[in-house]
Amino acid sequence: MSPDEKPVRETRSTQSTEAVVYTAETVTAAFAACPRCGFFLVGYRLIHDDFPQAASQTEGGWLQLSFSSPVRRLLHKSYGGRADLDAYHYEGTCPDCHRLFAYHEATEDGQPAVLRIQIKPRHVTR
Ligand SMILES: [Zn+2]
Repeated sequence: MSPDEKPVRETRSTQSTEAVVYTAETVTAAFAACPRCGFFLVGYRLIHDDFPQAASQTEGGWLQLSFSSPVRRLLHKSYGGRADLDAYHYEGTCPDCHRLFAYHEATEDGQPAVLRIQIKPRHVTR
C-alpha cells in the first residue's frame, strides 16, 4: 500500500488466482446474496462512508473496513453472538453463508482498529 511499492509483474499463469477486480457494486451484490450479510453491509454504510473506497482496495478477496463500537454492535446484530463481548480480537462466521470476518481493536503501537470480511464465502467461490 506504500507509494514506493513496485508493481509486481505476474509471470505464473498456471496457478491462476484470477485477479478479480471488485467495485462497490459487485461487492454489494456478493453481500446481498445472503440476508445477514446484506443487512450487515447496509448497516455499515449508514455508519461509515468509506465503503466505496474499501471496495476498490480489496485484498485477496477480503474487504477491509473501519471498525468501531457501532460496527461491533452491527456485527453481533447481523451474525449473532454476544453484543456485550468486549473482545480485543474476534473472528466469526456468518451462520448462513459461512462468510468469514475478523476484527481487532486499535493497538497501542498505532495499528488502527480494522474489520476484515470475506467478499465471497469460500464454499461458493469457484
Ligand atoms: Zn452471510
